[in-house]
Amino acid sequence: MNIRMDNNVSWYIEKQIDRIINNLRKRNMEGFFVSDNSELISLLEKLIAENSVIGVGDSMTLFETGVIDFIRKGSYIFLDKYKRGITSEEKKQIYIQNFSADTFLCSTNAITESGELYNIDGNGSRVAPMLYGPKQVILVAGINKIVKDIEEAEKRVRNYSAPIDAKRLDKDTPCVNLGYCIDCKSPNRICNDFVVIRGQFIKNRIKVIIVGKQLGY
Ligand code: SF4
Repeated sequence: MNIRMDNNVSWYIEKQIDRIINNLRKRNMEGFFVSDNSELISLLEKLIAENSVIGVGDSMTLFETGVIDFIRKGSYIFLDKYKRGITSEEKKQIYIQNFSADTFLCSTNAITESGELYNIDGNGSRVAPMLYGPKQVILVAGINKIVKDIEEAEKRVRNYSAPIDAKRLDKDTPCVNLGYCIDCKSPNRICNDFVVIRGQFIKNRIKVIIVGKQLGY
């Protein structure tokens, strides 16, 4: 664990992570734990083949951990939705290309102790490739994304992640004025898709890397 915390709290979280990795395995997904950014990058180097095609979904975690820089500097074909001067039409093309990427990287809004992945999306461009298309999907998440169950996941994402994300995107939504979600009907609403992933047909297509610190929201 890379954050300063009481040894007993650290023990509790490590036990939680062990349970999650074990439960992901039962769901045909693979879980990893890394303690810091450098271990994360080393693991990604092993999981992603050179010269392969990588797409990404919106994720503050990928920026905070240096993953976006790692992809840009590496020997990969990066479908870079963040490249300077990109037009909205080019971005749409990238969203479609993401379906045939070798690897799709993003984070997850929440992970339950039983290994379910919970995500909310606005236009579906982040959750859709998680569900189908890319050969492998790698989700990088801080320990702050761990929740007890789906009920807690929904509460966390609707009342915490989504309003903060709406603020980041400078959306004209009620939560940006109020600081909490009112399940609005705003045309600018960013919470349109609620997706729970409970398993996979293709073994280990989805890999979840838990990093031992707080990341994203
Ligand atoms: S449903 Fe509306 S108010 Fe609630 S978080 Fe989403 S955009 Fe904000």
